[in-house]
Amino acid sequence: TTFSGADLEKSVAANVVRCRYKKPTPVQKYAIPIGLAGRDLMACAQTGSGKTAAFCFPIISLILNSEDFAATKSGYSRRVYPKALIMGPTRELTNQIYEESRKFTYQTGLRPVVVYGGAPVLDQIRQLERGVDILVATPGRLSSFIERGRVSLSRTKYLVLDEADRMLDMGFEPQIRSIVDATDMPKPGSRQTLMFSATFPKEIQELAADFMSNYLFLAV
Ligand code: AMP
Repeated sequence: TTFSGADLEKSVAANVVRCRYKKPTPVQKYAIPIGLAGRDLMACAQTGSGKTAAFCFPIISLILNSEDFAATKSGYSRRVYPKALIMGPTRELTNQIYEESRKFTYQTGLRPVVVYGGAPVLDQIRQLERGVDILVATPGRLSSFIERGRVSLSRTKYLVLDEADRMLDMGFEPQIRSIVDATDMPKPGSRQTLMFSATFPKEIQELAADFMSNYLFLAV
């Protein structure tokens, strides 16, 4: 199997070549077609499995292929409306996802931004004010930006929860629930949700049932 059969948008496919990824990892092999088909997904996958590309490739492809892409490229605004939100538990993980997403969005015109706790708010506000298509965030810092009116999730169509079990372990469930609710504001059910977790305990099963409809389950 190769990436060329995967139906990725052409600039994403070019970035796969630039990254020198020759062959999809198992999670990529199954998750990419599911994501591209617009389906919700609960995937049990470990760190190092290639899950970042597994959720980034379909989301970036879908945004670039969507008709409203050009239309929603707006100019300066103090409140930003990300098209995709990727949440992860820690500064380290969200930074890693951000760095990967920068490679994957190279020359696409899409702008990723990362925000996390424990770092100066003002620098992150400046990054947000320059516009954001793909927001990578920890739940705590994102909640505070939403409360301050810096970020609106009313146009966020793609949602990823990465390392969902660790986010729950860290006590982020209330923030996660209110953030996910905020993505459903314009019309419930218009969102595509991809969840990744190393383990699949009852708490994660409940989140999956609450956040997704008719989702596919993948264990690799
Ligand atoms: P992740 O599990 O997303 O943190 O990825 C683990 C590492 O594998 C990262 O350094 C990726 O850049 C790399 N990687 C992901 N997918 C592939 C692939 N298909 N071929 C080669 N390396 C990959």
